[in-house]
Amino acid sequence: MDPFHLKLIFITCLVFVPLERLLALHAEQKVFRRNWANDLIFLLLNGMLIKLGLLAFIVASIFVAAQIVPASFQGAIGGLPYWVQIPAIILLADLGFYWTHRMFHAVPWLWRFHAVHHSIEELDWLAAARVHPVDQILTKGLSLLPVVALGFSEWAIGIYALLYQWQSVLIHANVRIGFGPLRLLFASPEFHHWHHSDDREARDRNFAGQLSFLDALFGTLHMPRGRMPTSYGLDQPMPQRYAFQLLYPFVGDGPHQSVAAPEVEPPTLERASAVRSPRV
Ligand SMILES: [Zn+2]
Ligand SMILES: [Zn+2]
Repeated sequence: MDPFHLKLIFITCLVFVPLERLLALHAEQKVFRRNWANDLIFLLLNGMLIKLGLLAFIVASIFVAAQIVPASFQGAIGGLPYWVQIPAIILLADLGFYWTHRMFHAVPWLWRFHAVHHSIEELDWLAAARVHPVDQILTKGLSLLPVVALGFSEWAIGIYALLYQWQSVLIHANVRIGFGPLRLLFASPEFHHWHHSDDREARDRNFAGQLSFLDALFGTLHMPRGRMPTSYGLDQPMPQRYAFQLLYPFVGDGPHQSVAAPEVEPPTLERASAVRSPRV
């Protein structure tokens, strides 16, 4: 029994801590950087919450899909070779991830959940863990919904999940690992670090989790040649405590920071993101 995945966390440390020393993007950043303990709590406690929530979401999806999608069709999809299933799952799941993630940036009350992830000011391998459980369960659940409904095999979904997990840690890591021409196909540290940048030109860009070409396709790619972001986070920093951050979407941190809805017109995707409270 290893409910907190301590072995996996240990292996991730063994891989990424030396890598971040050897290939540091921000060399001045320490292993025990600011608020690392807060993110360790996220990693240990959130993992369990997210797993339970996601499991419930997936079981419900399987039940609903069984009423709608013919079993013969699901059988045919699940019987495809892995080299077809795995790329298809990555594409389908990342399309779901892209649009759900973009929605979390665009809709003010959803942004309050996602702002927790963007509150991090120094990126490293541990940064991927700082997500509000509601954000993670909805984003991952909705992106996996079509995958589960269409009947992809458990093994193929398991391999996808493993690839996603490692890529997610890598793209947050404090490393200068360039992907060369593949940077335009796959999400890299460069790609996702820009997503966390507090630079206005990078705001609401690079939404994909694994496939950077989706942002090129939908007009949201931002990876200026030869440059990397220098600072990250929200315009108005959020207190860096686990309990506060879990409650933040519900209570905020005072009336002066309540989400400002547009006054006259209803929010469009772009406008809603422009008024999101913590970064305005
Ligand atoms: Zn985001
Ligand atoms: Zn991130």
